Amino acid sequence: MINLTLEQFSLYAVILSCAVIFLGGTIRRLRHRQLRRSRRRKFIRCRICGLAYTDYSAARDPECPHCGRLNDRGRTRRLG
Ligand SMILES: [Zn+2]
Repeated sequence: MINLTLEQFSLYAVILSCAVIFLGGTIRRLRHRQLRRSRRRKFIRCRICGLAYTDYSAARDPECPHCGRLNDRGRTRRLG
């Protein structure tokens, strides 16, 4: 049997609950970030005609349904 004083037990209970709250918050933030990233990858705005569309395919450069240009997914730093 483990011998604990009331102060030690209270301290461990507080530390354990803080750890559970911290881990729960961290997991929730990671899931939210992952969801935002996947949504951002599906939403595409054509760099030529400006049409906003969603693409659910796995293609790296989805084709614009309006003008046919291949667009990058997500944020891009290309100038042309
Ligand atoms: Zn277009």
